[in-house]
Amino acid sequence: MKNIAILGSTGSVGRSSLEVIRSNRESYKVELLVANSNFELLIEQYEEFQPRYIYLESQDARDSFNEYIHATKSGKNPLLKDDIELDQIIASSSIEIVVAAIVGIAGLKSVFIAAESGKHILLANKESYVVAGEILNEISKEAGSTIFPIDSEHSALHQCLSGVTDKESVSRLILTGSGGPFLNKDIKDLKSVTPDEAVAHPVWNMGPKISVDSSTMMNKCLEIIEARWLFDIEHIDVVIHPEGIVHSLVEFTDYSLLAQLSVPDMKIPIAYGLGYPSKIESASKQIDFDSLKSLTFKSPDIHKFPALGLAEYCIQQGGNSSIILNAANEECVDAFLEGKIGYLDIFSIISEILDKSDFRAVKEIDEIFEQDKITREQTIKTVNSY
Ligand code: NDP
Repeated sequence: MKNIAILGSTGSVGRSSLEVIRSNRESYKVELLVANSNFELLIEQYEEFQPRYIYLESQDARDSFNEYIHATKSGKNPLLKDDIELDQIIASSSIEIVVAAIVGIAGLKSVFIAAESGKHILLANKESYVVAGEILNEISKEAGSTIFPIDSEHSALHQCLSGVTDKESVSRLILTGSGGPFLNKDIKDLKSVTPDEAVAHPVWNMGPKISVDSSTMMNKCLEIIEARWLFDIEHIDVVIHPEGIVHSLVEFTDYSLLAQLSVPDMKIPIAYGLGYPSKIESASKQIDFDSLKSLTFKSPDIHKFPALGLAEYCIQQGGNSSIILNAANEECVDAFLEGKIGYLDIFSIISEILDKSDFRAVKEIDEIFEQDKITREQTIKTVNSY
């Protein structure tokens, strides 16, 4: 029985993780559930999985949870009192596996603690790896932790690369992307896109931030940077594959390709990461070949989705550039979802912030938080001037 912490348990990835665990109860025990404000769902999860600890970030949600516990008259309260206690529990021997599924930079500290304390980390929170990939790799090596991707594309690459002993035989990694809701929209109509249209992903059912990122292709940009740090392979391309069945490919120097296929369902990469190297029950579905009419592929339109080009730029600049990119993007996506800026302003503001920035090396985790804070302040100022 392995003890597991789900950070971001009320979100899309968190809920899928609990579905996989529900199908493998004899192997995994949920010890810790973490969310921000959705205490109603957290209470349901608490009642079903009976974790020893829970944590809520929002004070209002904490108050509501305490009221609930008081009403149950159970005498024990699993709610951790603050983030210091949370960090201690993540680092303690009570937890072996950490599913890192908090959205955005808010997830970085817990990923850092888990890496430092030698955990097996199932990484959904790509933002933390985008901003701190190099540092997290060093910490993991020293502490003996593993950072295992559960982004479907990176899970696919992991599967295609397993057994490849000679990295020189890989010519490139090819990330697939569905193209998002605006794949076939005319470029001149993008200006008037609304938040509801941007979060309506045609293939994946995800949280609002990653859905907007998918629509702008910033998600693919972040994934290229994530793949760079995960696999240490420089040549990474993107191909558009609207059906979302082929999750990514590895091309070898003889131009043969390996791909991983499945229905688009996060439970499959989560089950792969949980069970590795064994295969476990995923609670997902088989591909129905009769209903699968065709698998199509085409190159991305970089003119229409310029965010894609920022990956190459940030990888070349290195240092703090990815932190600036990520912070500016998170603030712009929030501002767009709140109706403060238009859809096309997201890319304009991020480019403006990157253009004004000085790039420098980053060695410590504190420097990441410092840069993140500075960029957010700059971005908010720019958002307010639009
Ligand atoms: P959601 O918005 O659905 O869920 C986010 C989760 O994080 C919620 O549980 C939320 O709690 C919690 N949370 C947010 N802020 C905090 C905080 N400060 N402290 C504690 N918990 C917090 O996001 P997704 O599940 O879609 O995405 C999660 C991560 O996984 C993202 O980094 C995303 O890029 C990545 N990812 C997602 C995929 C998907 O299919 N959804 C696929 C691949 C990667 P609450 O509900 O209370 O607000």
